[in-house]
Amino acid sequence: MKRYDKLFYDGNWQAAHSEKLAEVINPTTEEAIAQVIQADHEDIDRAVAAAKEAFPAWNETAPFERSVYLKRILAGLTARKEEIADVIVQELGASRSFSEQGQVGLALKELQATLEELADFAFEEEIDNATIIKEGFGVVACITPWNYPLNQIQRKITPALLTGNTVVVKPASNTPLTAILYAEIIQEAGLPAGVFNLVTGSGSDAGNYLAEHEDVAVVSFTGSTAVGKKLSASAAATVKKTVMELGGKSAMIYLPGGDLALAVKLAASTVLDNQGQTCSALTRLLVPEDMLAKTKTALKDYYETVTVGNPAESTTRVGPVVSEEQLKTVLDYIEIGKKEGAEVLIGGKAIEGTGYFVEPTVFINGNNQMRIAREEIFGPVLTVLTYSSVAEAITIANDSDYGLSGGVVGPEEAAYEVAKKMRTGNVIINGSNRTPKAPFGGYKQSGIGRENGRFGLEDYVEIKAVFHG
Ligand code: NAP
Ligand code: MG
Repeated sequence: MKRYDKLFYDGNWQAAHSEKLAEVINPTTEEAIAQVIQADHEDIDRAVAAAKEAFPAWNETAPFERSVYLKRILAGLTARKEEIADVIVQELGASRSFSEQGQVGLALKELQATLEELADFAFEEEIDNATIIKEGFGVVACITPWNYPLNQIQRKITPALLTGNTVVVKPASNTPLTAILYAEIIQEAGLPAGVFNLVTGSGSDAGNYLAEHEDVAVVSFTGSTAVGKKLSASAAATVKKTVMELGGKSAMIYLPGGDLALAVKLAASTVLDNQGQTCSALTRLLVPEDMLAKTKTALKDYYETVTVGNPAESTTRVGPVVSEEQLKTVLDYIEIGKKEGAEVLIGGKAIEGTGYFVEPTVFINGNNQMRIAREEIFGPVLTVLTYSSVAEAITIANDSDYGLSGGVVGPEEAAYEVAKKMRTGNVIINGSNRTPKAPFGGYKQSGIGRENGRFGLEDYVEIKAVFHG
């Protein structure tokens, strides 16, 4: 078993002050595949000090020069993309094809897009007699989840570094190996010491201490709304800026006249790929009451084609959920749904044997007041809801504490009118591609701020007005 007992800060892999190690479990085999050092407060202090020391010079480095380093990182990630995908299969359990396309491929595309947007980003502009200067904040603490172990880090460090900040990353405990590989690639890119730093360790201890650190200027967090609220509250103590990418309970609205099979496929794909462990998953499928029978048939037809199994095999679509804890959460929600009176159309139980596998599950005859329609399950579970008018569909879609994403399938013009009324950061019409330059982020309790492209860069700049002349 591999043992990672060093932390990356101040330009090198450093011996840790902590002696505590934690195991990384492969969710397919339930076997420990590595041991990873758990940073203590002394380790975090050292990493933050390195980032703080590196900040002034990095902040004064020309944006173009900073982009040269990020281009090298992109080249390094591209050269090792197969290896990264393998690690994601092992520690997350995402299927091989999804790891390649939806995980690594997406991260490469988004990194490239932000680099392209940087070329047009105005670090200085004039307003009357003022020069407006945009620059880095200082040290950014990046705390990331396990569901997209490469890209959740990429979406933070690319814009933060390009705008002159230095970073300390605390990756999720379930998936630290992807982060360690990322750090190796960044080391090879030769950034000045202290600009990028990685500390592995537990969220409640290392993550919490990092987020509250007095020398941290920005807390950029992706994960559960519960932890996001806690970090927002503690950031207030020293008036830190926060960027929050939190949970979702997004809706797919199927409109009369649209392609029903397409609506079913699009919603189902978001809860099947990555085992539904995607914050923007379209977990509520809304269809007109009189289309329920046809929807049931379309769902059964689609789910018949879905293969569940070893994620390393190229024919597998759905692998295990990330951990035993996550499996328990998903199974608990399935029981909650049954008790609330929703009906299981497909699946509904764990898959016996080794690995944290659960049957892809679809509930029908539910309503939007049920917990399975309101809370983020983060597993392969879809809930079908019915509506009697388009106005009611919009009301149901918006009746959520969350506001991350949404989908509409229907005639283009009608779908666009519905999209405008949805209180969410993204809406995808008829399965259109998302350009990686567009902003990603949530309304309401799905977050604060936006990631990717120009909007991602904006989130990491302090703004100064100098009056002269
Ligand atoms: P989480 O507990 O919010 O963890 C996300 C990150 O925050 C991890 O690095 C975690 O470290 C760290 N963390 C946890 N508690 C912390 C604290 N008190 N202070 C500072 N950092 C802390 O999410 P999770 O446990 O991975 O997943 C739980 C649920 O969150 C999921 O079921 C899902 O509903 C939601 N989630 C949402 C997203 C999203 O993209 N919106 C992503 C992942 C999860 P450890 O890994 O060491 O705990
Ligand atoms: Mg947790």
